[in-house]
Amino acid sequence: MVFFVRQIFWGAIFLLAPNFLYATEPPPEKGYLPQLEKVDDLRLSNFKAFQHELKRLDEYSSRFDADESDYLNLLKASEATLLSNYHETPALLQNLLYRPANDVLRIRALALLVNSYVLAQNYANAFEYFEILLTEGHQLTDEKALVQRLGVIALLYIKLEKFDLAQYYLRDIHSLALSDINLCRLYTQKIEAMSAQAKQQDFDKESEFGFSLCQRTGEKIAAGFIIAEIVRYNVNQKHFAVAINSYENYRETLNTTNYSFLVAKVNALVSQAYFAENDMSKAESLAKEALLFSDTHPFSLPVILAAKSLYEIAKYQKKFQESLKYLELLNAAKTSYEKELSSQLLAYHLARGEIEVKNQRIALLDKDNELLSLQRNIYAQEVRQHRLLMLLLFVVLLIASFIAYRGMSGRKRFKKIAEFDQLTGISNRYHFNNLAKVALDYCELNAKPAALILFDLDYFKTINDNYGHAIGDWALQQVVKTCRNFMRNNDVFGRIGGEEFAVVLPGCHADKAALLAEICRDAISTIDTTESGYTFPISASFGVSSSDISGYQLKQLLADADLAMYRAKQSGRDQIATYTHLIDKAD
Ligand code: GH3
Ligand code: MG
Ligand code: MG
Repeated sequence: MVFFVRQIFWGAIFLLAPNFLYATEPPPEKGYLPQLEKVDDLRLSNFKAFQHELKRLDEYSSRFDADESDYLNLLKASEATLLSNYHETPALLQNLLYRPANDVLRIRALALLVNSYVLAQNYANAFEYFEILLTEGHQLTDEKALVQRLGVIALLYIKLEKFDLAQYYLRDIHSLALSDINLCRLYTQKIEAMSAQAKQQDFDKESEFGFSLCQRTGEKIAAGFIIAEIVRYNVNQKHFAVAINSYENYRETLNTTNYSFLVAKVNALVSQAYFAENDMSKAESLAKEALLFSDTHPFSLPVILAAKSLYEIAKYQKKFQESLKYLELLNAAKTSYEKELSSQLLAYHLARGEIEVKNQRIALLDKDNELLSLQRNIYAQEVRQHRLLMLLLFVVLLIASFIAYRGMSGRKRFKKIAEFDQLTGISNRYHFNNLAKVALDYCELNAKPAALILFDLDYFKTINDNYGHAIGDWALQQVVKTCRNFMRNNDVFGRIGGEEFAVVLPGCHADKAALLAEICRDAISTIDTTESGYTFPISASFGVSSSDISGYQLKQLLADADLAMYRAKQSGRDQIATYTHLIDKAD
């Protein structure tokens, strides 16, 4: 949610920028980097001019060298992300990520990719690349790359409510020799991270510094976000008069921003200060104003804060009926907010687990390499004697590769048909079995846990019967598309029956798998079917088993998950059940 809000925030900055057209120069025969830099500079100051100039440069892209093409793709990916075309971003950045020659472009590409995945709510991928971003780019001096990297790191940590980590990454920003505008932008995040924590020694000094910096550079919205945090911090510290005073001094400017999220956030926060100071009428009118924001964003932070204020006010005035109404609203908004946070945290922890597995794999490969080089020494002499034989082998290999190459494309196509389910694009039963066994063997060998989720759609026959087979097919595709968002690259996802699916999760215990199952269950049950032309509910029942109880044999894991799923069906469907010895053996 916070991230979504950020997007509106930056979006608003583009809209406020003056709408001049960038002076057009004829492009040179070669050497396009300065031109690309200029277009890049327009990105945050004038989005319309940025788009225009980018399109013009693109027409000359056939003359670009490798660095210039990469830079152009980075700018195109920025454009796609800013226009919410998130699906286009990864393909545009692919080349930049795997060509380590240019650190600046690579880090910027990583940061943009993370940003775009988060906006697309694909948290599993976002956190996978986030881990890489954390380990790279410490030495960068390029301002754009530096600000982009720190900005994305801080945003994600704030989103995960890991405020101390966000603050840690932003601790030295004032000594980085950044432009005032960039420093102001990072300061809004720094102050947000600080204000969410208990006593902060430098809060007053830092927030005052950030506020005047943003005022000076004309960044009204950024200044407003800092005021919001000043109010929040002082309310938490019970310095209510200071909170009210900061708000009163800024109120006029705040209303000229026309930025409804910001206005709602500040109003909701300051309402708490008025409540504490016993000014009920101001407290109530500000909170009610903030609550208007719930029309468009029912589960956002301003709504939670406003509902809390109104609940407390009504309770204080002994209007119990009304206080109950606001308490219910508060609980509903809070539950959704926390649900989203926990699904992000899950993705974050899953990604961390995956990085560990990868590191271990690399360590294993290093060991293998050591052994290989030893062997190479021992056999060096023999190899020399057999050089002639090698040459012969080489020729044979060459011919074989040529033949293999010719047959490859046809075989690849055949392999694809044989391994993947044509309707949903995920592994079919046969391929799932093979992949799952490899993953389970790997976990067993490395003493890692593994879990399995099995799910079957509820009353699916009814969907076919009521709306036809084609709509049933559509529903199956939507279910797979939805669940895929929450899977990591290492998870093995397959369609193992008509409307029955399984996922093997390497590195997970039953509790994590159950959490993921719950997230998928919830996501399936909220699929919007109006696009199909009919409105009907979709739900599924889930069974979870894990290596801790069932061991590493796929057959056993499937059988135990099936028992658990049967239990979920029996208890009313649209729910998950985890296989445990006691309950399921007793059944
Ligand atoms: P429940 O699992 O909740 O007990 O009820 P159900 O209605 O889902 O029961 P059942 O498993 O018996 O029905 C599965 C139906 O799924 C039967 C079959 O017609 C349908 N089905 C299987 N494969 C496909 C497919 O590829 N496309 C469509 N549209 N339907 C399929
Ligand atoms: Mg079914
Ligand atoms: Mg079935």
